Amino acid sequence: MNARPYSAFFQTVPALVALTILFVVAARPAGQNAAQSLTVLSRDGRRAIPLTTSGNQEMAPLDELAAVFQLAVREEAGALTVSYRGRTIVLTPNQPLASVSGRLISLSAAPSRTANRWSVPLDFISRALALIYDSRLDLRRPSHLLIVGDLRVPRVTVRHEALGSAARLTIDTTPRAVSTVVQEGPQRITVRFDADAIDLTVPPIQPQGLVQAISVIDPVTLGVDLGPRFGTFRSSAVPLENAARLVIDLVPPADATPAPTVAPPESPARELPVLTQAPPAIRTLTIDPGHGGDDLGVRGAAGIVEKNVTLAVAHRLKAAVEARLGIRVVLTRDDDRAVSVNERTALANNNKADLFISLHANASFRPDVAGATIYLASFDESMAAREGLASERLPALGGGFRDIELVPWNLAQIRHTARSTEMANLLAAEFRDRVPLASNAVDHAPLRVLESANMPAVLIEMGYLSHSGQEKQLAGAAQQTEIAQSILEAIVKFRDAVADEGASR
Ligand SMILES: [Zn+2]
Repeated sequence: MNARPYSAFFQTVPALVALTILFVVAARPAGQNAAQSLTVLSRDGRRAIPLTTSGNQEMAPLDELAAVFQLAVREEAGALTVSYRGRTIVLTPNQPLASVSGRLISLSAAPSRTANRWSVPLDFISRALALIYDSRLDLRRPSHLLIVGDLRVPRVTVRHEALGSAARLTIDTTPRAVSTVVQEGPQRITVRFDADAIDLTVPPIQPQGLVQAISVIDPVTLGVDLGPRFGTFRSSAVPLENAARLVIDLVPPADATPAPTVAPPESPARELPVLTQAPPAIRTLTIDPGHGGDDLGVRGAAGIVEKNVTLAVAHRLKAAVEARLGIRVVLTRDDDRAVSVNERTALANNNKADLFISLHANASFRPDVAGATIYLASFDESMAAREGLASERLPALGGGFRDIELVPWNLAQIRHTARSTEMANLLAAEFRDRVPLASNAVDHAPLRVLESANMPAVLIEMGYLSHSGQEKQLAGAAQQTEIAQSILEAIVKFRDAVADEGASR
């Protein structure tokens, strides 16, 4: 699709095909308040009413309002009578007052007359006209928007933060509207809202950063144009008390390797992952063969390199899982290429994987060290404390409480600690008689590839390539099959345990 910068949107509104779609988005840069025009949105379409300024009041021409709302205006005996279907508003020149069906209402300014044309302050619409009009009138002064009837036009506020070479977009939608984030091409993502139109506020963007422009693609879709330094994104949706918050983290590629392996979400239901939701079943598995490309991983004395062992086991495991469990398997790499740690986790998150398994092989300076270890992400106490705080009921601005707070993406794994531990223990049990285990069969380490995984996640060091016997074993089909089969058995038990918990909930 062809997007225009938001500033040019009003001049060239695209014609859409559907029947009763509004051809409108009210979009403006934050902080811009100059008198301009009032956009009237209704089921019939959109109309702009030019505004004037009197003193510091924005005024609307009464004849324009009369045309839009089918009002009759009469001027007699020094008074203005505005009527609609037998109901009347009487205005008195030089008086900031209106008499609405006999009831006196104050206005922010008196009606003013310029060259035979009467103008009224904007609050005439909300304070007077709304009382006699048939449909609901929702005047949004900051965005110069007047919504007629029951249209869903949520306020959408975009905040942009540059974080070093990365960036974060925080998009709040009030009232809540479901939104969908899709990557369209290597340098663009789009955010589509389930609404009739959106009332959008976007910050001015300095195009030097990762985010180059935020544009309006159609009445309910934003386009985020990303520069060549864009690698991948991860998004999370968090319901706040009255709003929906969408956080999109944009990260650069870790290196100059072409062909990022991040795939757009494939499932037809493209709703976003919510950090607080536990997966009810195992539908998608992400297998992460460690290293690749220039990154060989560790190398044994006989020349076996880690990146090949991890890929070989990943292929065996994928085939076994697909054949026996029929669940979707996503590999973070399918061949010998470099993939950054961020991309690996993002791929799992974007595909809404229910389980993440990273495969590695180990090395030690001591040649006799051997055996497999299943690692879990470790978090230091300050991280855990922040997470504990975040899940409590926090007083919210403007009163009330907020039950859910955003968990930073780099801590997404914290919520899945229990399930990850369960999976690690199942793996250790399955390995026990088939794959040599290290003395620390299950252990913790601050592993970046696990920290931001928003699903149960483990990293398996399958054995030591620095151990000559294990190097030979790990390179061979028999041991690789044993490992894959053991992992498969653990996945089966994990899946059943998750299903049981889901059923008893
Ligand atoms: Zn490794």
